[in-house]
Amino acid sequence: MTLANGLAVYPGSFDPIHMGHVDIIERAVQIFPRLVVGVLENIEKNALFSTEERVEMMREQFAGEPAVEVRSFSGLLVNFLKELDATVIIRGMRAVSDFEYEFQMALMNRRLYPHAETVFLTPKEEYTYLSSRLVKEVVALGGDVTGLVPEAVAARLHARYRKATHPPTR
Ligand code: ADP
Repeated sequence: MTLANGLAVYPGSFDPIHMGHVDIIERAVQIFPRLVVGVLENIEKNALFSTEERVEMMREQFAGEPAVEVRSFSGLLVNFLKELDATVIIRGMRAVSDFEYEFQMALMNRRLYPHAETVFLTPKEEYTYLSSRLVKEVVALGGDVTGLVPEAVAARLHARYRKATHPPTR
């Protein structure tokens, strides 16, 4: 249960994964020998991709990276940490706008589980404006997200919105 077990957990919705997330994961595995990516199970009905799809996209992306394990979880993050015998939480910090929410979460998690330590990593500058919400909006409006999400994710996004705009005719 110490930091010495080398395990870190990167939790998020990842609806869907984009290059900002990929960048953070690649940085995290430079520091921690093992990383569990925790995909939060849908609590809101308006998620675009199901939990299974989000896990699958993440696994496809990191199939060649043995240090990365992808799992889904529900409920409190601190319970997921305890289950894994982990204490380190990785979060991405894009800009000042992320700060307040992330700061509150880090302190609340530590209150719930005093061993929990949150480590903030910053992505490459070119990914600092990226969010899953923005990526979905751009694709929904017919824009190009090449280079902003993994290719397999772009394909799934286009397929999903094509279906939405051209429902099957009966
Ligand atoms: P949430 O966990 O709030 O649902 P996400 O699943 O979108 O949000 O993101 C998971 C984590 O990745 C969060 O720590 C978030 O700050 C971080 N993150 C999101 N987008 C980026 C980005 N472009 N660059 C770096 N970190 C990011």
